Amino acid sequence: MENQIHFLWRLQEIDLDLSRMREQEQQLGVEIDRLKEEEEELVGVMAGLNEQLAAKNAERQNIQVEIERLKAMVADSKEKLTQIKNNKEYFAALKEIESSEKEMNLYETGLLELLEETEALQSQLNDQEVLLTEKREAIAAREAETASQVKGLKQELDAIQKERQKTIDLLDKRLLARYDRIRRRFANAVVSVERGTCMGCHVNVPPQVYINLLKGDEILNCPNCQRIMYSVPETDGE
Ligand SMILES: [Zn+2]
Repeated sequence: MENQIHFLWRLQEIDLDLSRMREQEQQLGVEIDRLKEEEEELVGVMAGLNEQLAAKNAERQNIQVEIERLKAMVADSKEKLTQIKNNKEYFAALKEIESSEKEMNLYETGLLELLEETEALQSQLNDQEVLLTEKREAIAAREAETASQVKGLKQELDAIQKERQKTIDLLDKRLLARYDRIRRRFANAVVSVERGTCMGCHVNVPPQVYINLLKGDEILNCPNCQRIMYSVPETDGE
């Protein structure tokens, strides 16, 4: 019976190690997921900037078409000017040319502003591109690092699994079932009892139960929390 509780204690150590390692494994994936989310955000920002840039370029093209149209109009009007004999008509035509040229100037100023805006957008895009490249490099590096860590963890897990199986083979099947049942409620199904106190629920074990526990004839559950009690022979640290 005494050996059984030792094996069970060992099994619990193994199980706690296993869950710790599985958590570690998960944690590694979480970090990569976070980096990938950041990458997606950058891609989204860049798509937005590209959209803005395309809109500005379309606007620029429209203005250029408008300017070309006005230019042609002015050239046409200037040519007609030479054929006008009447003074009144002549000045009216001049005025028209003047107003077309004014309009053209306005468009050209607008065009310059658009060019500046386009350049600003382009430089923002370039900055984002650099960030994205850096992020992708970080992801690749982290993935490579994680892959080797996961590989190491898997090897350790395999070794521990084998040890777990060996320990299980040594255990009484009913005791194992009891352990598994309690483990559904508590990660530590087996707890030490120190100076008469259950280290799982920190409640004092009734004296008679404690005496029976120390005798080691049977494996007992804590009357309060139902965990399996283990009386540590020598307290080798917590
Ligand atoms: Zn207890």
